[in-house]
Amino acid sequence: MQIVNPFSTPDKVIGICGGGQLGKMLCEAASAWDWKTAVLDESHDFPAGKIAHRFTEGDFTKYEDVLAFGKTVDVLTIEIEKVNLEALIELEKMGKIVHPSPAALRIIRDKALQKQFFIDQGLPTAEQFLFDSRESLLEEFHAGKITIPFVQKVRSGGYDGRGVAIIRKEEDLALLLEGPCLVEAMVDIETEVSVIAVRNENGEIKTFPPVAMAFHPEANLVEYLYCPSGLGPALELEATQIAQAAIESLEMSGLLAVELFLTTDGDWLINEVAPRPHNSGHHTIECCSVSQFQQHLLAICNLPLIDPQLLQPAVMINLLGEEGYTGPVKYIGIEQALRLGSVYVHLYGKETTKPFRKMGHVTVSNRNVSSAIKTANFIKDQIKVIA
Ligand code: ADP
Repeated sequence: MQIVNPFSTPDKVIGICGGGQLGKMLCEAASAWDWKTAVLDESHDFPAGKIAHRFTEGDFTKYEDVLAFGKTVDVLTIEIEKVNLEALIELEKMGKIVHPSPAALRIIRDKALQKQFFIDQGLPTAEQFLFDSRESLLEEFHAGKITIPFVQKVRSGGYDGRGVAIIRKEEDLALLLEGPCLVEAMVDIETEVSVIAVRNENGEIKTFPPVAMAFHPEANLVEYLYCPSGLGPALELEATQIAQAAIESLEMSGLLAVELFLTTDGDWLINEVAPRPHNSGHHTIECCSVSQFQQHLLAICNLPLIDPQLLQPAVMINLLGEEGYTGPVKYIGIEQALRLGSVYVHLYGKETTKPFRKMGHVTVSNRNVSSAIKTANFIKDQIKVIA
């Protein structure tokens, strides 16, 4: 169990596969501690390119690119699951420190393997049925073996709901996605909750306070995330224990964001997990005793973890590209939002906007969570991301 300590050995380099906003915020956290970062992604113009200590242009899905990059860093991590797995396995064999472990990543990045893993571990998740293709799913449907309503998920590569088709009525079958997939029953969801757990190689585990998500009633998009979740201590403890069990069973180091459904019957189901920083942890930058990004850095270096306390209630909204605009980005209304106070704006530095693209986020902090929600909703109407 190796420890890498960039505080006492400042030449150590943390390598990050992926230069999007999560990579950028990892670099920001590292920079605050004067840790060195190297990032691999296609273009220097990507969010992390502007602040990484070293940026390597390359394709993190390609074996050669990841292998060559990995050799130049001391600890290798990811901000996206799509990274070339064979290269990570090879680097680990060569003695490189890679977190999350390729073994855990192999399970997590295929939704079907992930679900089967949790089922085998006795952790709660919806039952699944696997299909090779859209056609074979449709065959089973027409044979009466699947009934509406149901949810189809592509096994890998989906994100932000893009790999999910919710089939509520027969006409929705047109929405079915191509490729190997799983089907699960439609769950009656009371609340969607996320718990970010973190573990280091020493086996130390911490969890961030649960975060609840509020959805837009028509668009089925996350409107805002809030913490505390309002679930109360008993339910929060249950959710936290599931997240702990999930990270423990995967024996992985670094962050694991565990997305859960609380059903209308009061049961918990794991929806999916992500072995990296997560959208539901952005408020931790300003509102917790440690940010998810700092905690991830500590964990992958096998340094002692920090107890994550919520310092002040937080509400987080994503800044999405406005519908109808594609092109070089402009932000309207930011300075008015900032004047409200306790409003923390993060713009990711993506050069072009397109409809619903995640371009930034805003965290609102307030002693009173409902006041923070009010401010967040006001800001949502004020700020526009256009071209
Ligand atoms: P992604 O990986 O793209 O984020 P998710 O698996 O999280 O996709 O699903 C996206 C959304 O679809 C969830 O946040 C939830 O609102 C809805 N959803 C997913 N699975 C189910 C289900 N079994 N029943 C009801 N709604 C679901």
